[in-house]
Amino acid sequence: MKQFQISFKDDEAFCRELAEIKQWCQINPAYTTIFRIYSEDMDYDHIRHICDILDDKMPDALYLGCTANANLLDGVLAKAEIIITCTIFEYETTQAKILQFPFLEENVKEDVDKLKACCEENPWVNSVEMHATIMDMSMKEFCDEMSTLRKDIQVFGGGAFNPNMDDETAAVFSKGNGFLEHGIVFLLLGGDDLHTYSTFISGWKPLKRRFRVTKADREVLYELDGKPAFDVYQRFLNINKNENFFSNTLEFPLFIEHGDIDILRCPLAVNDDDSLVMSSDIQEDAIVRLSYGDPETILSSIRHDGQEIANFQPEVIETFSCAARRAFWGDENISDETVPFRSVAPTAGFYTHGEFIRMGGDMLNFNVTLVIAAMREGEPKNDEVVSIYDAQRENIDKIPIIRRFVSFIEASTAELEEINMKLAMTSITDGLTRLYNRAEIERRIRSALEKRTKKGTTNDISLIMLDIDNFKKVNDIYGHKEGDHVIQGLSDVLRNTTTGVHSSYLGRWGGEEFMVLLSESTADEAAELAEKIRAEFASKSYETAGCQTVSIGVTQAIADEDADTLYNRVDKALYTAKANGKNQVVKFDK
Ligand code: GH3
Ligand code: MG
Ligand code: MG
Repeated sequence: MKQFQISFKDDEAFCRELAEIKQWCQINPAYTTIFRIYSEDMDYDHIRHICDILDDKMPDALYLGCTANANLLDGVLAKAEIIITCTIFEYETTQAKILQFPFLEENVKEDVDKLKACCEENPWVNSVEMHATIMDMSMKEFCDEMSTLRKDIQVFGGGAFNPNMDDETAAVFSKGNGFLEHGIVFLLLGGDDLHTYSTFISGWKPLKRRFRVTKADREVLYELDGKPAFDVYQRFLNINKNENFFSNTLEFPLFIEHGDIDILRCPLAVNDDDSLVMSSDIQEDAIVRLSYGDPETILSSIRHDGQEIANFQPEVIETFSCAARRAFWGDENISDETVPFRSVAPTAGFYTHGEFIRMGGDMLNFNVTLVIAAMREGEPKNDEVVSIYDAQRENIDKIPIIRRFVSFIEASTAELEEINMKLAMTSITDGLTRLYNRAEIERRIRSALEKRTKKGTTNDISLIMLDIDNFKKVNDIYGHKEGDHVIQGLSDVLRNTTTGVHSSYLGRWGGEEFMVLLSESTADEAAELAEKIRAEFASKSYETAGCQTVSIGVTQAIADEDADTLYNRVDKALYTAKANGKNQVVKFDK
């Protein structure tokens, strides 16, 4: 595989370059030739003119391209408004085919079906590159449909764009198919000797704190954790509604969890209702995290993930990098993250409106990400793999200051969360027995009753109420401390006997009284458990207090019953157990 890269200046220079390419093809094996044209120049006639030249001078070559936010040539941001790469496949087995369709939400399925049919007819296809105009479109259905493509086909590409980020106009084009402002071009590539390694690098790092998307519609993110989405940016990051909103949020976009993969979405603007306009669709119920990006962190990701690309030993590297990355880095520095790749292979591409890649079968629509397709014909040629970041080696161990701050914040947050958890536990448990305290067990009983009424279900809710017999004597004769041991002894019995009992909650009702909530048991089941508790407690012996006993009342809630009448009944059952001679279980039916 060989690639020529051309910055378009004028017809004359272009024709000279084409003549050189033709000459190269005469003395080298050259089976398939593909030109890719990326243009910041939105005058379609200029691009058409270049296509006409190609049709005329290289009639057998395929070409495709799109309008772009910016171009990338020789690993750096291109100065030329139009760049052209010419990739020549040197293996006879390598094949290519171009498909182009109008691209609108209503014909997404139709388009993908046609692509699928073509891939079935041509089993050699192993990679699909795509350029599409995606402005204002939801990509969900497209991604779902593309995910059904033959499993072994890699897909990668980008959304056509405009040099002006606020301008929605964009176009795609390809040989024999003309220009489309709402179109998609697929370049199908494959053959036994064509190897593709497609991957993505973001470089932004997620923070630990998770939020749930509680309200979203297409690309509008209304609520995170039930609060207006903008609140997260304002409260945590002090980002305000002003002209710097996009450049500020660009440092802290959202990661959406998609299985093992995090997908970036950037807030582009805030609406009056504090909802956020995101760079692409976001689904309700998704889990998102804020992420942070800084140049050093991003470059260290490039060093790390980029080496995998170098190890593949590609002959050509194609990039589909988000225009938001260009906005983040600025034109003076944007090339820092792509220039390393040119030491590996000729590197070119364009700055996109959305990047696409298929990972583990799933077609994903990224933002703020660098998607890379590395290609090679035949087996790797060198024993030695290029190290992509030699020039910056000395910086490898230097941790950027922002990463140290993030690590500080994450560690502090983790500590606070632990303290909060402990506090929360303390506020609902009883110190002596570590069972729920009265307030908590009451809350759980009321909530179980309310849930049942609300849902209209008839699940069985039962209570077991216990009171240690003649406990005053234990205190009086053996001392308060031994009394405490007996109380703890009963709480241990409760824990042991309810282990594995579905929906059972244990609480200390007060003094030496306890309450067990069984929200999925009948009175008979509860009485059976109560008898077990009684017997086990009676069989225990304490150091000085010896054996003790407990009286138990059991009852079940009737339909729509409130907590108070239920307490009354269980209390009466317990009173009856005491009156009948203690150390026994009395069940009052509903
Ligand atoms: P009955 O069999 O009728 O229940 O008789 P009883 O002696 O157990 O009577 P009652 O339930 O009224 O006695 C409760 C006693 O429990 C009174 C109180 O001193 C004691 N008590 C309450 N809380 C604690 C505690 O946390 N530790 C200890 N050691 N004793 C407690
Ligand atoms: Mg009592
Ligand atoms: Mg008692």
